[in-house]
Amino acid sequence: STYTHHFDTPSYKASVTFDTGLFINGEFVQPVDKGTLDVVNPTTGKVICPVSIANAKDIDIAVKAARAAYKNSWGLKVPGETRGKMLNKFADLIEEHTAELAALESLNVGKPYAPTKMFDLAAAVKTLRYYAGWADKIQGKTVETTEDKFCYTRREPIGVVGQIIPWNGPLLLIAWKLGPALAAGNCVVLKPSELSPFTALRIAPLLKLAGFPPGVVNIVNGTGPQAGQALSEHPNVDKIAFTGSTLTGRKILEASAKSNLKQVTLELGGKSPTIIYDDADLEQAVKWAGHGIFFNMGQACCAGSRIFVQAGIYDEFMKRFSIVAKNLKAGDVFDPTTTHGPQVSKTQFDRVMGYIASGKQDSATVETGGSQIGTEGYFVEPTIFSDVKPEMKIAREEIFGPVAAVFKFTDEKAVIDLANDTTYGLACAVFTKDIKRAMTTAHGIEAGTSWVNMSNFPDNALPFGGYKQSGLGRDLGEYALEHYTQIKAVHFNL
Ligand code: NAD
Repeated sequence: STYTHHFDTPSYKASVTFDTGLFINGEFVQPVDKGTLDVVNPTTGKVICPVSIANAKDIDIAVKAARAAYKNSWGLKVPGETRGKMLNKFADLIEEHTAELAALESLNVGKPYAPTKMFDLAAAVKTLRYYAGWADKIQGKTVETTEDKFCYTRREPIGVVGQIIPWNGPLLLIAWKLGPALAAGNCVVLKPSELSPFTALRIAPLLKLAGFPPGVVNIVNGTGPQAGQALSEHPNVDKIAFTGSTLTGRKILEASAKSNLKQVTLELGGKSPTIIYDDADLEQAVKWAGHGIFFNMGQACCAGSRIFVQAGIYDEFMKRFSIVAKNLKAGDVFDPTTTHGPQVSKTQFDRVMGYIASGKQDSATVETGGSQIGTEGYFVEPTIFSDVKPEMKIAREEIFGPVAAVFKFTDEKAVIDLANDTTYGLACAVFTKDIKRAMTTAHGIEAGTSWVNMSNFPDNALPFGGYKQSGLGRDLGEYALEHYTQIKAVHFNL
């Protein structure tokens, strides 16, 4: 069955239709047990439409389709050049459908339309093209050992890969996951978040148009405990690539251990520090600190949620940073002037408001924000806390909302230890004009990414992932390809 949404908004007017079924073996099908789940518009709190959801039986059918495709029509049977061409065609199709896909994303998860079109959609296209370029450049090596041997390595695909992704950047994360998996010749069963199925459903026919054979990419919506768990436990899945919370990451590792020891890569949460030294270009630091924590309503894994500011510039920073928070404009996500949308769901809204309440209860100072916006939908004011102590919940736990905890520091050596006092290690941002300070800090922070004089801005060509409990393995760059291939050593006795 299909659903048609009639957009009549200030920035997008059109009707968009997509199938709400499960996309398996190149066709939309109904789930075996006919399960459905209502999708809610976070701007209004109202149901948009139901979509089909998979259970273990459907996951099994999808895995079988992926396995058959891997054996018969994909993997190294298809030249890298052809896989790259298909990925490029897919990128072109996404680009052609930018307005429509951005509209679906805004409707479904409450991202403001203008930045979604400009950032998420453009970035997704770029990521697919980046990996299209890699598809015919994945190489083994010859290895010289002794005169009587000829040895080389091959980089072979892993096989059938389950990909489980969250809701904070649905389409962009699809590109991050599908790009390297398909470039390297794997088949995929992709499970989007139950909160954000729309763009995944809309791109399914585009995959077909791009030329990917049936079964190479299967898209199955469903809940975590049911479809996600079934995929993670499936004995015929060779790898799970996951992006989401640390809690779910643990469950996926356990499921792998208990089933077939499938490979697992995890991109998890964070509590990333932003460190601003007193010699920083203050205007630049304020701008990026704002982007770091308030971009996407704070729903970014690498959000700069702990901000350490050196005493000499603290007051001026706080004055300007509060203005950034106050100037964000909440409202209709399709109004071109809106820069701040709702949190994705009632659950996330309650979670974020709960953290704000705990910060107030722990006697942190609310510099700005701290309340719900309006009464409809799940809007939270961009919120800044000062006088935060390292042991407070708002300083330790990932909030995944527009809530910054600001700390004043004096001692340059101590700030690195303070910033590292977390179980997470996804990213950090450092602001200074001093090259030595910049490098000492960028190297001293225990995190997979250090940004200097910028923040919260991954690059396709660089690895992205976590130290400590922020993850295993890396997305993006050449490094992701290592996790989508397995290496074989071939020895010849001459
Ligand atoms: P989540 O872990 O609840 O859900 C993520 C995905 O996992 C969803 O598709 C969900 O259905 C699935 N899932 C849930 N339980 C499962 C289970 N038992 N087995 C298998 N799959 C299961 O996370 P979320 O609330 O959707 O997303 C927010 C979290 O994701 C935050 O912690 C954030 O930091 C993290 N995140 C990380 C990155 C990154 O790249 N490091 C990017 C975005 C989000």
